[in-house]
Amino acid sequence: MNTNFPKEYVIGIDIGGTNFRIGGITAENKLIAEPQKYSSQQMFGNASPTDVLEKVISDFILKFPDYTLKGICIGFPGTVDASKESVISCPNLITFTDVNISTPLKEKFHVPVVAEHDVLLLLSYDMKVHHLEDDCCLVSFYIGTGLGNGIYIHGHFLDGKNGVAGELGHIPVYGKNDSCPCGNNGCIELFCAGKALERIHNTYFPEITFSDIFSHYEKFPQLQEFVNFMAMAMSTEINILDPVHIVLAGGVIHMKDFPYEILCQRIRDYTRKPFPSQSLEFIKGSNDPFAGIIGAGVYMWNNLKNK
Ligand SMILES: [Zn+2]
Repeated sequence: MNTNFPKEYVIGIDIGGTNFRIGGITAENKLIAEPQKYSSQQMFGNASPTDVLEKVISDFILKFPDYTLKGICIGFPGTVDASKESVISCPNLITFTDVNISTPLKEKFHVPVVAEHDVLLLLSYDMKVHHLEDDCCLVSFYIGTGLGNGIYIHGHFLDGKNGVAGELGHIPVYGKNDSCPCGNNGCIELFCAGKALERIHNTYFPEITFSDIFSHYEKFPQLQEFVNFMAMAMSTEINILDPVHIVLAGGVIHMKDFPYEILCQRIRDYTRKPFPSQSLEFIKGSNDPFAGIIGAGVYMWNNLKNK
């Protein structure tokens, strides 16, 4: 056995509104060690966000002296520009808004550095797990705090002119005027994602433990309306794109007793007949807490191979 075989890895970073996770991933998409987790708010309180990233990446690299770093991919819960260098808007971690992430880290570590919307990294992970790379069109919906949306068409993730394609959560709902953190009013994610679920819970049945609310789905029309809103948003995109597969995931979808089959049926109800409605193929996406890190690794290795 050749003991000098180079051990190469990329760093995957998943920055959420709550948790910061970092891990090393080999070209075979395996973690090189248990990933590390920190509190995002504590880490990025007042300090310069790129200084903090530089420090945490430097410390991480020192732990693996036998490995050669080939690239870094960082996922953000917000929009990223088409060059994959800068965060455009990140309402849950405002410190990153309008910050060039890639350039200072490239200069420091001398490897390619990519910033990307976290939903595309989660989709990279789910595509790998379910072997979806050959789908001519694939859409994913991640229902967490907001409605995340990733689109993969003809071998590429859809970025759009500015890098902000797939902001399905921000399509307007007629007659609604609630203000959205994006700056507009009446965006559909205000009625079909985590923030809406908290509001419904607090308003209509605060006595029920939050994590149990979907066990009472049949009793509360507010929860039924919530799922209908979700299905309407998803059906809109499915009618436009006619995807091969539809990946459904995110914290809300994975909650106890979430009415997954009812959601799928509502989507069948709302989509065009006979197609795409009759041929919809749903895949329940991963609930792995490290999916964002491993997905960042998969994404980065694909990026390096295609260079
Ligand atoms: Zn909005």
